[in-house]
Amino acid sequence: MGKVWLVTGASSGFGRAITEAAVAAGDVVVATARRVDALADLAAAHPDQVEAVPLDVTDTAGIEATVLDVVDRHGKIDVLVNNAGRSHVGAAEETTDAELRSLFDLHFFGPAALVRAVLPHMRARRSGAIVQMSSMGGQMSFAGFSAYSATKFALEGFSEALVDEVRLLGIKVLIVEPGAFRTSLMGNISASEEIADYAEAVGPTRRMVQTAGGAEPGDPAKAAAAILAALDAEQTPLHL
Ligand code: NDP
Repeated sequence: MGKVWLVTGASSGFGRAITEAAVAAGDVVVATARRVDALADLAAAHPDQVEAVPLDVTDTAGIEATVLDVVDRHGKIDVLVNNAGRSHVGAAEETTDAELRSLFDLHFFGPAALVRAVLPHMRARRSGAIVQMSSMGGQMSFAGFSAYSATKFALEGFSEALVDEVRLLGIKVLIVEPGAFRTSLMGNISASEEIADYAEAVGPTRRMVQTAGGAEPGDPAKAAAAILAALDAEQTPLHL
């Protein structure tokens, strides 16, 4: 039997690319997102390998129910990919508490709840892998990215502790830190009016936007291949 993956934010971008790569490797993917209709083509093309399951990662009860259901039906979860996310651009001064909390719900509390939900099952089998989609913005920050980077820094701190907590249980943790890749998230950033204003005003941000919207943002399929290879490597790196 192949691996069983649980992927969040699988309806586009990295999540979809990871789903496709895992399917090509012969594995089964429980592909989750809010817009499951965007996964209908993949599920129809690979009915034995792709299950499109609705899941909003800000819904903790939904997370617990989904994990229990997957373990019930498949007997295990080999790989959790905490990938769901969105862009946020705005001055720190203008970012409201509600916006900050909503982004933390999506990028931090949702992934933390998923980790809590899957770990008992991985620990029981003494095997498993957790992929945390952070960002270049999880290692450095730029004007306009205070909220986004704060959530990714939080995810990185959580994950670096986690790796040491689960290593001896046979469970891997991989923190992925992409730069600019061709997904709808990057399209949204490049197109946003706020970022155009920042690009005018702020050097470092302008450089980032040019990388993002300009010459050669990366291909998510290549990132997905690199993630699968890192998980299969004898020594999985902590950061990719
Ligand atoms: P996309 O916009 O292409 O995909 C984002 C995915 O997240 C969608 O499938 C969306 O699905 C899902 N999503 C958003 N909100 C929720 C929610 N509340 N519950 C469940 N799913 C949700 O962007 P990317 O593929 O680029 O983003 C994936 C991850 O990669 C993010 O964590 C992002 O921060 C990170 N990243 C991306 C970079 C890039 O250059 N693109 C660079 C660095 C990091 P739906 O709307 O159907 O729920």
